[in-house]
Amino acid sequence: MLRPSNTDTIRVGDKKFAISVPASRIQKEVERVAAEISRDYSGREPLFLVVLNGAFVFAADLLRAVTLESQVSFVKLSSYNGADSEGKVRQLIGLGEDVRGRELIVVEDIVDTGLTMTRLLETLKAHEPASVDICTLLLKPGKLQTDLKIRYRAMEIPDDFVVGYGLDYDGRGRNLRDIYSIINE
Ligand code: 5GP
Repeated sequence: MLRPSNTDTIRVGDKKFAISVPASRIQKEVERVAAEISRDYSGREPLFLVVLNGAFVFAADLLRAVTLESQVSFVKLSSYNGADSEGKVRQLIGLGEDVRGRELIVVEDIVDTGLTMTRLLETLKAHEPASVDICTLLLKPGKLQTDLKIRYRAMEIPDDFVVGYGLDYDGRGRNLRDIYSIINE
């Protein structure tokens, strides 16, 4: 991966990307969402459930900006395992019994079609939390296929594939400070 110096385009693996959301804007929007959560959950103690890997950077900034007494736990969805892309048999790893009766805030990097989040919510609900809210860094409204209720979103973006600020392309690019969109060549 080539880091930008005086250019707004970079190469990650075999693809070219152009900067689409600079770090300064990301920080502003993350702080706004943190303030909304702090206000809405005032006096309560939610459990933030961070979906790895992509949400780790967002969660680190979000949680430090939230002013509530809160707890954090990390979950991961297994890779597709013996299922085709439609079947999507993905296991939720790392979920403890601690979600029962808790007010959960699921922290995700990006909601695209919404299918991953819909399945995640189904699994979570089987563990009987008191409530579940979704907080996503990015949402692609043009791609959304479900009627998910997404209470918190930092930013809406066009349908293009993005990397940076936790999001990867083929395992790379997660440590970029800005968010970059793919350039289709
Ligand atoms: P969905 O099930 O909502 O279509 O897809 C959600 C998952 O697809 C995300 O958690 C993320 O892993 C991946 N994804 C969707 N769009 C993008 C994108 O633009 N960039 C990256 N890096 N991952 C994406």
